Amino acid sequence: MAAKLFRAAAVLAASAFVAFGASAQGLIRDAEIEETLKEWTDPILEVAGLVPDDVGLFIINDASLNAFVANGQRIHIHTGLIIEAESAAQIKGVIGHETCHIACGHTVARMRAASVAMRPALVSIGLGILAIAAGEPGAGAALIGSSSQFAALNFYVHTRSEEAAADVAAVKYLAALGQSPAGIVEFFEKFRYQEVLSDAKRYPYFRAHPLASDRIRTTRGLAEATGLMDAQPTEREQRQYEMMRAKLVGFLDTPLKVRRDYPASDKSAPARYARAISAFRASDIQIALGEIESLLADEPDNPYFNELKGQILFESGRAADSVGPHARSLELMPGQPLFLINYARSLNARNEEGDTKAAETALRDALIAEPDNAFAWAQLAITLEHQDRRAEAQLATAESSYWVGDIVRANAFARRATQSLDKSTIDYRRADDIMLITDPNNPDNRQFYERYGRASRLSIGAQTGHTSRNMPFGDFSAADPR
Ligand SMILES: [Zn+2]
Repeated sequence: MAAKLFRAAAVLAASAFVAFGASAQGLIRDAEIEETLKEWTDPILEVAGLVPDDVGLFIINDASLNAFVANGQRIHIHTGLIIEAESAAQIKGVIGHETCHIACGHTVARMRAASVAMRPALVSIGLGILAIAAGEPGAGAALIGSSSQFAALNFYVHTRSEEAAADVAAVKYLAALGQSPAGIVEFFEKFRYQEVLSDAKRYPYFRAHPLASDRIRTTRGLAEATGLMDAQPTEREQRQYEMMRAKLVGFLDTPLKVRRDYPASDKSAPARYARAISAFRASDIQIALGEIESLLADEPDNPYFNELKGQILFESGRAADSVGPHARSLELMPGQPLFLINYARSLNARNEEGDTKAAETALRDALIAEPDNAFAWAQLAITLEHQDRRAEAQLATAESSYWVGDIVRANAFARRATQSLDKSTIDYRRADDIMLITDPNNPDNRQFYERYGRASRLSIGAQTGHTSRNMPFGDFSAADPR
């Protein structure tokens, strides 16, 4: 499971309000993309002498091409890089390079740091939810509203010699795995033209990694010396790449791009996948269902196809029908935390006899794997509210707010929860802890509260239409889908 690798990374003392009005950006979550990247990355990390569970891999929703190491042992990859790369080999080359920045001891110094108060929350949200929920009320939109740009993230700045060492290491790691390092060279050569652009026009990746021709020449020489240039990628990984790319283009790109890259005449699985997702986003539910049914006819046991079918049904108002496909995705991949959350969301919305209990069990399981998953906490608040367990729902809302970095709201809900929770319980202690961490009198938090107060007066109401100062993200605990 990818749970550990892809833990959400909400950073406290965040200025969540900065994000209002900004486009939906932030970390995205998707079981298929995470499982795929993990499968490719873990062997590279191991060859580099790292422990995969200690290294985080995060996907940032940003169309520009970039990858970097930030905030410790965390590799960040932009969706733009995944879409622009042409193969698993190119992505593995980039991952190998970034892996060395961790494993080769480069990341100790020269961190370009943002002040704590300026650091945005790294809100993570499901790819499907991101694409669909923007602009809608409810928990999904609330989380999107609080996700923000990564400009102020702490990231590492490397010297030229470190860059060169990382290129060498990337070739070495792949060769040690018996895989072709050709992807690294292809990637460089494809973007060679970037060198003649001004810094402002260059992709961020090539601002940090100048593609001097001697760099390309040296890397090519090393890669050829491995004798593995012609080693072919497996069919499995090429297919994984194509499905991942189709999914990202379908969810994040324009319908025009989808029609151009995946025209109706293309009957391949990736093309049908991209069209299904694009139609789903455009609310062409019949087309979306037609494409996904044709994919399921070919591969009934594909967990991600079942997941997508569940999402399409859920978002088109057929929550009860969406329970089955989500349950099926879980049968095919038991315990997958993101599947558990989708399943629980459908149960919450159906809300028949026994659904709230089943949803609670699923969400508690997901939260064991991902205790910092704000969306799971928001769904748990709904489940608990359905069961009239108000104080526990308030605590779940406090957790959700805390993990998106909204400490003001976390503090308010934790306080309410402590007023009715039994003092001897773990829940009470957790609520008390959240109150303590988010205490306005804590000097670390003061700046956040001050900025929050200023911003809510100035802009939140105007930009979002929300007028309540205390509830800029909507009230999850009171949310009721019925
Ligand atoms: Zn680098």
